[in-house]
Formats: sequence, C-alpha cells, structure tokens
Amino acid sequence: SNIPKIVILGAGYGGILTALRLQKELNYNEADVTLVNKHDYHYFTTHLHMPAAGTDKPENARVNISKLIDEFKIDFVKSTVVQIRPQDKKIILEDGTLSYDYLVISLGGEPETFGIPGLAENSMNIRSINSVRLIREHIEYQFARYKREPHRLDYLTFIVGGAGFTGIEFVGELSDRIPELCKFYDVDPALVKIYNIEAAPTALPGFDPELVEYAMDVLTKKGVTFRLGTAIKECTSEGVVIGEGEEIKSATVIWTGGIRGNRLIEEAGFETMRGRVKVDEYLRCPGTEHIYVLGDNSLVFNEEGRPYPPTAQMAMQQGVACAHNLVASIRNQSLTKFEFSNKGTVASLGKGEAIGLAFGKKYTGRKAAWLKKLIDIRYLFIIGGIPLVLKKGKFL
Ligand code: FAD
Repeated sequence: SNIPKIVILGAGYGGILTALRLQKELNYNEADVTLVNKHDYHYFTTHLHMPAAGTDKPENARVNISKLIDEFKIDFVKSTVVQIRPQDKKIILEDGTLSYDYLVISLGGEPETFGIPGLAENSMNIRSINSVRLIREHIEYQFARYKREPHRLDYLTFIVGGAGFTGIEFVGELSDRIPELCKFYDVDPALVKIYNIEAAPTALPGFDPELVEYAMDVLTKKGVTFRLGTAIKECTSEGVVIGEGEEIKSATVIWTGGIRGNRLIEEAGFETMRGRVKVDEYLRCPGTEHIYVLGDNSLVFNEEGRPYPPTAQMAMQQGVACAHNLVASIRNQSLTKFEFSNKGTVASLGKGEAIGLAFGKKYTGRKAAWLKKLIDIRYLFIIGGIPLVLKKGKFL
C-alpha cells in the first residue's frame, strides 16, 4: 500500500508521547504507526529512585502500554531493537524486521562510565524496572548478610556515585529507607553509611546554589556523607578508590554520574556526541528528512549554545513536536521548529522534602514535595487520563 509507515523505537517519555499524539492527530488510513518497546509496559523513570531504595513498589512505577494506546490505531510490538539500518530503512529486532518510511528514535540513555576502571562491571544503575528491582533486593540482602558476618561493615556501606538529580533523589530515599531496614534486621543505624561522591565541586551542578545548599543540609542531617570535588578513580568488587587513592569498602555501588545516548545510534552510523544526535530545529537527524531523534538520545542547544540536560520534560515536549511534524510531513505541510519551554525543575529529597524552581520562584520542603507530586500527577493525566491518575496517583 502507499500508506506511509511510521516506526517509533522506545515507549519511554519521548516515544509514548509521540504515539499518543499521532493516535490523536492522524486520520484513518493516513499512516501505519508501529511502536516498538523491549517491555510490554511503560515505566516512569522519574519515579525509579523510590522503588530502587525500596520506599515504593516497582509496580507503582509502571503501566501496561496496552492501557495507554489504542491498539486499533497503533501496532504495538514487544521486542528488542538490535540494529537500525538507515541505508535500507529497516529495523532489525531480536525476532524480526520492520521497514519504515519515517523513523522516531527514542530509546533512552545508557549509563556513561567515562572509562572509570571497573565501574561498568561493579556498579548498578537506576534505569529500568528490572534494574531497580535488583538494587532494592541487593540492599536488603546486605542487611541479612551483615547479621551473619558482623565484621563486614562494608555490607552496611552504600556508595552513590554522582550527585546530579538522580543521585540526590536516590540518597534522599535511601536515607528514609535505612531506619526501616535497621529495625527489621536489628542493625544499629549508627553502623550504616551512605556516601554520595561527586567529581564536580558542588552537588547538582548548575542548579540554584541556595537550593543546593538547602538540599545538602537536609540530606546531611538524614545521614548522607557528601564527598564533593572527589572523583571515583576505580571501582572494584570491594568498593571504590577515590581522590588520591583513598579506598572506601562497600558491597553496594550505585552509579548515577553520567548518561549517554543509546549505542545502537552510533552503530547505525549517525554522527553523535556521547551517543547523542545533535538534531536539527525540527528534531530530525541532520541530513535526513525522515528520521527523528528524541529524549536522552538527542542533543538540543539553548540560545547560549549550551546543551539542555536530558530530562523527561524535554523528551515529552519533543514527542509532541515530533508527532506534529510527522503529520505535517505526511500532509505535505511545512514543519514547525522545536522550542523547549522550561516549566521548572523539582528534585525530591525523600518523604515530604524537596527543592524546586518553578514559575520563576524557589520552593523548598513540603511545598516543593507537593509540587513534585503535582508534576507526576500531571504526567499520569497526560498519558492515561483520569483512570491512570486514580490508579497510580495515590502512590506518588
Ligand atoms: P526513556 O524514558 O528511558 O525510554 C526509553 C524506552 O526505550 C524504554 O521504555 C526502554 O525500555 C526502551 N528501550 C531501550 N532500549 C531498547 C531496545 N534496544 N529495544 C526496544 N526498546 C528499548 N527528568 C525530569 O524531567 N524530571 C525528573 O524529575 C527526573 N527525575 C529522574 C529521576 C531518575 C531516578 C532518573 C533515572 C531520571 C530522571 N529524569 C527526570 C530523567 C528522565 O527520566 C529521562 O530524561 C527520560 O526518561 C528520557 O526519556 P526517553 O524517552 O529519552 O527515554
């Protein structure tokens, strides 16, 4: 048939928003839309610090894709992409092949370890439902092990590499979780150590200094030890080596210090910077008219020529813009330039505590925590309407 085929890779923030918008805007038989994702569920990456620490269930951070999309309008394929072949407009899946006329790449990021020896092999990452289930079980297991080998204080030492948003949100949750675990396993809380190690001279580099100070203060009081301006030199099965060779023994290293684009993109031959494609003003891969790249896989620059950090907020706005441009392309209408509109940023610091910048104002404490909840509920509403808000909203 002559109906154009649109294939969307990844059902994260960018991919799901693209699919939902296409579903709404396209007329019957205007295009065939296929959405490919590794899992049959969509997960809320921005919520994963909670199930990772064990302060919430992994179940509350995901929703079945079939509940979000209309399968009469969009074909959902549960599969893993193994190769992108732009030269013949094909996608190789682990169990088949798809061809496309228009492609949307929104496969999300991968941990960037900056070549630090042993880090990839010996650390865990907060990236997916599967990865946070592992972290949650691992942490709990360390308490159980400690009770059998009480000389092993490294079991009670938790290292978080990176004090960006993910690292900060995670140590906030972990410090809430530790007292519960201590109680459950009869462990003296004074023996438990949480280190947050960051190479940059401050936590949350680039964020409002006053709010950063507030966050550090809250987290330090909750028992987090910050080691700022300190690079992790090496990670082994026994812990990390930092700064000038100091060793911290730990059975748990969680790396949140860097994100890069998906390796499939550079393997496909696209030009990238740390795996990200510097997209054109319409979100297309430069030199192509039919390949869009979104979210953590894309690089968008602000007016000062600096790249925006990869966020869910960015991926969502890109998804909406990409769908709009796809529809315009199919209808031979002119494309619209993408412009990011920053609605604000809120970082949680654990139960009832957060910091945020929104509507040109600074927020801390309960107000900021409430704002975070509002953002999360708004997202549930955008992708799943009132039913999803009722189903998952109460857990946020
Ligand atoms: P993702 O949402 O990561 O989606 C990628 C999808 O592709 C996934 O469904 C994955 O399963 C699928 N996939 C991957 N590889 C394959 C493959 N080979 N084949 C098939 N499918 C595949 N951002 C904010 O704006 N605000 C926040 O408060 C915030 N908090 C965060 C907290 C944490 C703990 C973390 C980890 C991130 C946070 N972020 C936040 C960042 C945000 O989550 C990401 O920027 C966002 O998820 C990027 O969206 P995406 O669509 O590019 O990719």
